[in-house]
Amino acid sequence: MPSTQQPPTPAYVGRFAPSPTGPLHFGSLITAVASYCDAKSQHGQWLVRIEDTDIPRIFPNSEQHILSCIEAFGFEPDAQIIFQKDRLALYQNILEQLHTKNWVYACQCTRKMLGSNAIYSGTCRHLQLPFQDQAIRLKVIDQNICFEDRLQGRHCSNLKDDLGDFVLKRRDGIINYQLAVVVDDYLQGITHVVRGADLLDNTQRQMWLAQVLGYPLLHYMHLPLAMNGQGQKLSKQNMATALIPKNAPYDLQQALQALRQPAVDLDTPQNMLKQAIAQWNVASIPHQMQLAENYQ
Ligand code: GLU
Repeated sequence: MPSTQQPPTPAYVGRFAPSPTGPLHFGSLITAVASYCDAKSQHGQWLVRIEDTDIPRIFPNSEQHILSCIEAFGFEPDAQIIFQKDRLALYQNILEQLHTKNWVYACQCTRKMLGSNAIYSGTCRHLQLPFQDQAIRLKVIDQNICFEDRLQGRHCSNLKDDLGDFVLKRRDGIINYQLAVVVDDYLQGITHVVRGADLLDNTQRQMWLAQVLGYPLLHYMHLPLAMNGQGQKLSKQNMATALIPKNAPYDLQQALQALRQPAVDLDTPQNMLKQAIAQWNVASIPHQMQLAENYQ
């Protein structure tokens, strides 16, 4: 008789979640390679999600560039790629659930009113403002939130002291990254997050929101960032060079070298990744927050 049971959830589901705010660059490749090899070396799944909720920041054709690089560099996602801009109703629904449970409130404070004060004092918490055309903030509590990063060690933050209630939806209606990332990590069944160390201090915010929503905890690994010759992290703003699909084998070698993995032979990208997975060794990845070399 065929089994009616659901297949068991894999113990490892990882993901690569680029934002199409510019073409993929060498720093993004390091994240893609590490998240892929880490998942596959543990017989896990690897998913791709395009984080495109911030529509004004979308860079023309970068979505296409990301998709063609994923293919050209030999990555094989285990499910169809999802796009967050197709899921806005879903995030809105979660916001409404949070509203019903009194976890969020509308805030009329503008950036100008808040000035340089990075910690939000909760001015609008008790004003009961209507939700229309206002920013929506999540309440935080006075509690230390800690996690053990697989590379960066233990990190703690008291969100009340370090940040205050934070924005889940902007006044212009854009769903904030923090909300979309937590909801999608949950709905995609993600168990392990491997991403750049620039996102390390977002983690407690995401853990807090996940806790409020009753979602399980995830494992985190924050990778050291590739820096350019001026000591800045490679980014679209710093004009990092776009990856070129035909350079995939050489770039893969360089990315694995940056992660201090054993060398792989020049071959097709698929075969190179296979070799990298077989040799994958987390213990060799540098623990610091930055890779000092002059990358482009
Ligand atoms: N979309 C984010 C970025 O491109 C990454 C989000 C994440 O990995 O949590 O920087």
